[in-house]
Amino acid sequence: MNGIIKLLPDHIANQIAAGEVIQRPASVVKEMMENAIDAGADKIQVYIKDAGKTLIQIVDNGFGMTPEDAVFCFERHATSKVSKADDLFDLKTKGFRGEALASVAAIAHVSLKTKKESDKTGYNVVIEGSKIIRKEEFVCSVGTSFEVKNLFYNVPARRNFLKSDNVEFNHILDEFERIAFAHPELSFLLKHNDQEIYNLHAGVLRKRIVDVLGKSSNDKLVPLDETTDIVQLIGYIGKPEFSKKTRGEQFFFVNDRFFKDAYFNNAVNKAFEGMIPSKTFPSYFIYLKVDPSKIDVNVHPTKTEIKFEEDRFIYSILLSSIRQALGKYNISPTLDFDRETSFDLPASMKNQPAVEPVVAFNPEYNPFQTTSRTTSNAVNTSQTFTKAIRAEGFGSNEVQPEDWQQFYKIEEETVEEIQQLELDDESSFKGNFLVKGKLLLTNCKSGLLVIHSERAQERIIYDEMMTQFISKPISAQKLLFPFTRDCSASEIREWKSNVQLLERLGFESTFNDNQLEIHSVPGIVQEDAIHDCLNMLLENISFKEIDKGEIAHELIRSVAVATSRSKKIVNDKLIVENLIDQLFGCTEHTYSPSGKRIINTISMEEIALKF
Ligand code: ADP
Ligand code: MG
Repeated sequence: MNGIIKLLPDHIANQIAAGEVIQRPASVVKEMMENAIDAGADKIQVYIKDAGKTLIQIVDNGFGMTPEDAVFCFERHATSKVSKADDLFDLKTKGFRGEALASVAAIAHVSLKTKKESDKTGYNVVIEGSKIIRKEEFVCSVGTSFEVKNLFYNVPARRNFLKSDNVEFNHILDEFERIAFAHPELSFLLKHNDQEIYNLHAGVLRKRIVDVLGKSSNDKLVPLDETTDIVQLIGYIGKPEFSKKTRGEQFFFVNDRFFKDAYFNNAVNKAFEGMIPSKTFPSYFIYLKVDPSKIDVNVHPTKTEIKFEEDRFIYSILLSSIRQALGKYNISPTLDFDRETSFDLPASMKNQPAVEPVVAFNPEYNPFQTTSRTTSNAVNTSQTFTKAIRAEGFGSNEVQPEDWQQFYKIEEETVEEIQQLELDDESSFKGNFLVKGKLLLTNCKSGLLVIHSERAQERIIYDEMMTQFISKPISAQKLLFPFTRDCSASEIREWKSNVQLLERLGFESTFNDNQLEIHSVPGIVQEDAIHDCLNMLLENISFKEIDKGEIAHELIRSVAVATSRSKKIVNDKLIVENLIDQLFGCTEHTYSPSGKRIINTISMEEIALKF
């Protein structure tokens, strides 16, 4: 008896496959622009008629194809970019499946004109519904031109499924812009129905962004630049006050390839937390460079997701470098990291219904007046508190520009006060006192400045470690004998799932049944602090509900807390002065990484009240 299974003819198989790769005109634009880039073109022209439904033409000045390749390129799985499975793990090109051209040729009328530099004449291949109609020599310049007409002419269901010209052209614009942002070093032209939409000249990244978004965007961009051994990160973020009501301007690229990533997007949002009103979106153009073998792009052809081997680490780097960049441009709130605890706000208050907070000290205080120098710190803090709650979306959610400026300016006074004091108050005593080995007292213009020495140390150690951690593994000290500690099953699980980050921090470890054996610790951790340090680390990774992206912050914070506890301050003039200097060298010196207050001033008025 004859079987009932048949092999599908090639042209039908191609049509089915085409449905996966080519969903709309924009998919053709994307695939062909990528091919042009892979062919080394530095000038790529895109001509569109009727949102691509009538014509899509892509012209490049790349290295072209031989007459044989000009025919062969339309075969399924015909690619010049990978030849063995291993190549897939080291992709330096955009294409690798050899599916795009076969797919397009199966569902459209395609004319390819191409010429290599070394060939005397060019070649023209015309193919319709996978059938070659014509192939002949042709006079043209070096490079390649693809004309794609009547897309989906033989798949009516697909053609009917296409949206209005407006919608389809917007999809084309999206793909075009993503590629144009990824390659500022190349020139691009886009015309729609003979109207020039973009004529982008090669240049630097900032220029490309401004050319696409418009001149006014130039003032909105804050640069990012961070190099670590695992990832290089460059690009721009939009200043918080220009955050958008829609997600439009959010772009991630890895090795010049656009991708979407909810997890990394969360890192960006976290970095902007408290600086932009709720329901608005920060703009970003973030370019990652990672070893191609550490990412997996081999997912669905039209999907833009990419798998990263080191995603947790990259998350931390993103978060901290954006915070640093915002800080450098003086646009970060002084209250970093954990805003709720920054205000010593009890957790139970977090879910309370919206209530406009009451200004406790000075009801006359106007947050839009810039005379805060004369206002006491207590009032300032109360105002900051109001802003934080507002930014969370309680009360009015219209955060005005002046509003958030106030939000970050508030604690800037103390450093200036001290410097100012040294300049203009001859009669002031400039020494520092250490009280009970804990509190440092020093003069400031408005009265007394009290510094919590342990929290100051926590801040200094944290900042030092975080800066190091970002660029390379933290230098570790080997222990002569391993330090051991019994762990619960969940502690073991958590430790193991963070082992890479812990190693980067300086903790080399092994397990012997349920016993954790530590072979090295970060250089800064003294022998007598190891026990405390491990307890804190394990407590923080096991029992707290922490966001997995904040893990690096939590780990470093744990080490900083444990180390600063064990480091007693000696009452030595130089040591104390050095501590104060280092503290004021930190971008954030008012709050510790745990969100506790480091500095407080006691005003002359408050002191006078005691007498
Ligand atoms: P892939 O890009 O995955 O290799 P495609 O179907 O997109 O698959 O292209 C098939 C092959 O055709 C490419 O590998 C390349 O060798 C050739 N090709 C396609 N477009 C161009 C172009 N613009 N210039 C030169 N060669 C091209
Ligand atoms: Mg391709």
